[in-house]
Amino acid sequence: MSMPVLMYHDVVDAGMPDQSGFPGAAAAHYKLDTAHFTAHLHALASSGLHFPSVLAQEASADRTCLLTFDDGGESATRVATLLDRHGMRGHFFITTQRIGTAGFASAAELLALHRAGHVVGSHSHTHPADISSLDHAALAAQWVESRDRLEQILGEPVQVASVPGGFYTHRVARVVAAAGFRYLFTSEPTVAMHSVEACRVLGRYAVWHDTAARDALALATGEGSQRQRQWLSWNLKKPLKRWSRPVYQLVRRRWLGEHS
Ligand SMILES: [Zn+2]
Repeated sequence: MSMPVLMYHDVVDAGMPDQSGFPGAAAAHYKLDTAHFTAHLHALASSGLHFPSVLAQEASADRTCLLTFDDGGESATRVATLLDRHGMRGHFFITTQRIGTAGFASAAELLALHRAGHVVGSHSHTHPADISSLDHAALAAQWVESRDRLEQILGEPVQVASVPGGFYTHRVARVVAAAGFRYLFTSEPTVAMHSVEACRVLGRYAVWHDTAARDALALATGEGSQRQRQWLSWNLKKPLKRWSRPVYQLVRRRWLGEHS
């Protein structure tokens, strides 16, 4: 089984990255301006792919790609309006501690997204710096607290989650599965899926502020070398990340360019 998934974050006015989601330069790297995101959607719509909810029957069909949006920034409503024009469904992963705070979506907005057919899921409660380093109790609390808050807002079971910061481990997935989630999205750039207990784990391809629309299209369709390039870059960085964080940061700046 395989499924291509794109990982977006916020969509903001040009030059105003702090408008939605987490502030700062690192987060801004993942935020597209509205015109650019609109161009992405036009390119994706031209592909002939379907962009359904992972919970829909059609999501298992061929020629499918899933669109996800991390962090829970207030731009979720703007994103959903743009997706609706193309009949696409979004998956919005919410940092539940931030709901209703400056730059983040409110409870009423999340309920509206859910009622419009988009998927509202968990992105942990507080978005810890490295969720995989938490002890069992703290790790479980992140997902249980987040699930409970969303279920209170939506009035329905919440079945979908994404790992903050890309800090996926098998242990994280086991805890997410135990909290009752059926789908967990990681930042591993792969179309391969696997299951951890009753939870299906899906990788995602990252989209950055300067990712060209044609490259997002290539990630969705699998044509060209974009998928392989992300996979190679991720797997090159992975051992470095584990080996030494400062060296990883240096290598990232000096050799790879900031977003390769
Ligand atoms: Zn995040």
